[in-house]
Amino acid sequence: MVFNVDKIRSDFPILSQQVHGKPLVYFDNGATTQKPKCVLDTIEHFYTKINANIHRGVHKLSDESTKAYEQARETVRQFINAKSTCEIIFTSGATASINLVAFSFGEAFVGEGDEVIVSEMEHHSNIVPWQLLCERKKAKLKVLPFDDNGDLMVEKLDELITNRTKIIAVNHVSNSLGTVNPIKQIIAKAHAHGVKVLVDGAQGAKHGILDVQDLDADFYAISGHKIYGPTGIGVLYGKQELLEQIPPWQGGGDMIATVSFEKTTFNELPFKFEAGTANYIGAAALATALKYYQSVGIEAAVRYENELLEYATQSLLTINGLRIIGTAKEKTSIISFLVGNIHPFDMGMILDKMGIAIRTGTHCTEPVMAHFGIDGTVRASLAFYNTKEEIDKLVEGVKKVKMMFA
Ligand code: PLP
Repeated sequence: MVFNVDKIRSDFPILSQQVHGKPLVYFDNGATTQKPKCVLDTIEHFYTKINANIHRGVHKLSDESTKAYEQARETVRQFINAKSTCEIIFTSGATASINLVAFSFGEAFVGEGDEVIVSEMEHHSNIVPWQLLCERKKAKLKVLPFDDNGDLMVEKLDELITNRTKIIAVNHVSNSLGTVNPIKQIIAKAHAHGVKVLVDGAQGAKHGILDVQDLDADFYAISGHKIYGPTGIGVLYGKQELLEQIPPWQGGGDMIATVSFEKTTFNELPFKFEAGTANYIGAAALATALKYYQSVGIEAAVRYENELLEYATQSLLTINGLRIIGTAKEKTSIISFLVGNIHPFDMGMILDKMGIAIRTGTHCTEPVMAHFGIDGTVRASLAFYNTKEEIDKLVEGVKKVKMMFA
């Protein structure tokens, strides 16, 4: 099947604009993806025709809102192949999903002297919540290292896991190195020792068809805005039997069954973890995004992105003095690089003037930068609406910046 990128680009209104008088080249998809028109239409339609708070009203609009929200939950369930919608918790993003698990799983299962393992390539969102937990519980945080290519040293898990290890938190895809981690293997290893696994899928949920049952993940965190949906919405998948055993992390409306000053009882799953007014419009728009992604063809999109990755890698490597940070065996379309001594911020600011949006800095992965002894990188993260012509513009742009600093 030919991947019709022109047709796809026409679905994303923002891509046709000019920045600094130049056609926008958007290579900052790791930070957030752009939204297809159908997602924007869902939001507008919801606010102009349906909007009413969910779960609490007897009137028609509230009923329609509620149905749309619960339908979105079913769409997510299908997208990740969860067993039941009670395993799908809407959150504000991957960060909130991870914090939920660090708090609630931590309350139920982590005590003094217990251990939590995170990898060296985690986003701060998958480090700090575990540090907070370990401080609170006097538990120990251990680190699974990666090698200089950016491959996790999975074999080291055998030494790291002890009978005090309760959970491993690891990303599916590294946002700064582009590494696709062997999470199925990690999960199997952890389970052989009775250890649970949270997968940070902020970058990974769009990397191929996702099947949480096949992975046997205990928890999987998803970011809506990184998978063509709106900001402010995310998902936590958790196995039902685990979600049932862990306490709520926030209290408020919707998450309760009954409240009195003597005692509160909690709602059933998944509502037990959804306190307050949910982002129901975000959830509906996320569902539209997931359906859109499926209609594009997830496997075809990933194949195309891999082609772009290969093309960009080879093209960038023709530039003398350019060094790619992150050369793992299995990578997704995220390329971090440095050119000579040029500071990433200088590179980013000059490329911006050419209409090219890339990200610079630590990408919220300071330990990754520390591993390589660098302050930051320039990161181009590609999506299925990008093109080889855009990559050529990036390469030309980088060459120009290099000349300026020569
Ligand atoms: N984890 C990874 C690997 C990420 O790349 C990001 C965002 O960049 C996050 C977590 C945080 O995601 P969210 O913005 O949905 O909180």
